[in-house]
Amino acid sequence: MERCPLNIFTRRCTVLQRRSWKEDWPHMKIIGVDLDSTLNNLDAVWLERYNKDYGDNLTKADMISWDVTHYVKPECGKKMYDYLREPGFFRNLGIQPHAAEVMSFLHEYFEVYIVSSSHPNVVADKWAWVEKHLPFIDYHHFVPLHHKHRFEMDYLIDDGPHNFDRFKGTGILIDMPYNQHLRSKYKRCTDWLDVKDYFQTLIRKEERW
Ligand SMILES: [Mg+2]
Repeated sequence: MERCPLNIFTRRCTVLQRRSWKEDWPHMKIIGVDLDSTLNNLDAVWLERYNKDYGDNLTKADMISWDVTHYVKPECGKKMYDYLREPGFFRNLGIQPHAAEVMSFLHEYFEVYIVSSSHPNVVADKWAWVEKHLPFIDYHHFVPLHHKHRFEMDYLIDDGPHNFDRFKGTGILIDMPYNQHLRSKYKRCTDWLDVKDYFQTLIRKEERW
């Protein structure tokens, strides 16, 4: 009989161990993941469009609170939100570094939902983005949702400070200039590799790795 090389055997064992870990956990933990500026690069593209159209040089670092209308030129004001209703805008955004690989890792160990506050006009574009960049996410796990605290989740990964106000689970904040006032309140991750470290530690603590 042909002998199985050690590295293939080890890999098979790891896969079986992971599968069993997932199936045996009676309540698979639920992670909600925000889309805009958490998974996609909305923040960068949105500012780029504004700066080009209004002749400004606003940066992400300038915006130290959530309401962008405080920072844009008066002639722009609330028109800043018109970009977010433009057909095709969300579909063409890029993805944050390492977001795809870390989401794939989380998907293996947790029930992952993408929860995104969305105007009805852009829901199809957002789903098209998810399908392109995160093809392992089933469409049942894409939830256009504004009041995220209403959805029962164990963890929420998000950059929007308001989303944690009434959230009962564990908040994981993506570090942004506009959420610095929550500094000591939540777990803060600077990037997606940091998110992976957090959940890897959690899995190891469960001694189910
Ligand atoms: Mg966001």
